[in-house]
Amino acid sequence: MKIVFFSAQPYDKTFFTKYNTQGFELSFIETALNEQTVALAEGAEAVCVFVNDRVNADIISKLAAFKVQIIALRCAGFNNVDLEAAKNHGLRVCRVPAYSPEAVAEHAVAMILTLNRKTHKAYNRVREQNFSLQGLLGYNLHGKTIGIVGTGNIGKAFASIMLGFGCKVVAFDLIANKGLEEMGVVYLPLMEVLKADIVSLHCPLNEQTFHIINVQTLGMMQDGAVLINTSRGGLVDTQAVINALKTGKISALGIDVYEQEEKLFFKDHSSDIIEDDTIQRLMSFPNVLITAHQAFFTDEALMQIATTTMKSIDNLLNRKEVDLKGAVLG
Ligand code: NAD
Repeated sequence: MKIVFFSAQPYDKTFFTKYNTQGFELSFIETALNEQTVALAEGAEAVCVFVNDRVNADIISKLAAFKVQIIALRCAGFNNVDLEAAKNHGLRVCRVPAYSPEAVAEHAVAMILTLNRKTHKAYNRVREQNFSLQGLLGYNLHGKTIGIVGTGNIGKAFASIMLGFGCKVVAFDLIANKGLEEMGVVYLPLMEVLKADIVSLHCPLNEQTFHIINVQTLGMMQDGAVLINTSRGGLVDTQAVINALKTGKISALGIDVYEQEEKLFFKDHSSDIIEDDTIQRLMSFPNVLITAHQAFFTDEALMQIATTTMKSIDNLLNRKEVDLKGAVLG
């Protein structure tokens, strides 16, 4: 049985090869899955894709024509897959529902700490023998209010950490988590949660959440609020946030995801001319921290991603009746 991996990075090869206990034939392709590359899936029973691979109806019909049976996402979010089209063509779709949610939660915390205490600036300053503290003033997180949008696996892990810092945690979700309420998290309507000192997004990207942070919702936030997005770029109207940064409405922005990341992230563009003026504008702000979709990137998470994906493919291909805990999407 053959699996073709699109958008494969060297670490994907390392981890999937190591945890290929099923003995599948693995083929790693560096390029993303799209209209031009879909033919590379011919002869495979499964394709394994990542966040920026395009898995629309057209691609799915071509995968079906090549007799591919399974689309395995090696991530949690599945906004880039047309599940209806997959169902219509009889393709099974699986994902990794929860791989070390702590990895993403801890990265969100790292972004808050960096932006607040300006460690990114201090690091460069000290290397240049500049030991001045001017401009590095931060504030205590203890006692601040943290607003969380989406308290699933990652939001829950993030809430626990922030409670440990002595923060007040308020949250918005379609379903309140009883365990979190017992720990002290207070569920409020979205517009109340947005009034927090720091707002962190942990909901999935879908029709309801697209641009959940926009001109109107930014207006509800307090002056000088901090916004963190480690979820999906499409949750944030980037131009509206740029305007909010210019006026000081937002005092700091930490993003691990970006609306137009497909063309940039996971590749070295250090010798290229970047045509995307929006990310260039974002990078020009001293109070914006951008990481290239690395929140998931820990040893533990990669091990779990590889083992869960291989197990799901094995189960689906061999029709084993094993509990896949939310991994099968259709
Ligand atoms: P999850 O499914 O466990 O939790 C999502 C939560 O969001 C659920 O509680 C759900 O009820 C809630 N939700 C859904 N719609 C909502 C809405 N309209 N408003 C408020 N809440 C809503 O997912 P998770 O594992 O916590 O992951 C969350 C997201 O994080 C994923 O969808 C993915 O996009 C992103 N993610 C990013 C990285 C990264 O490396 N940056 C890694 C993994 C996941």
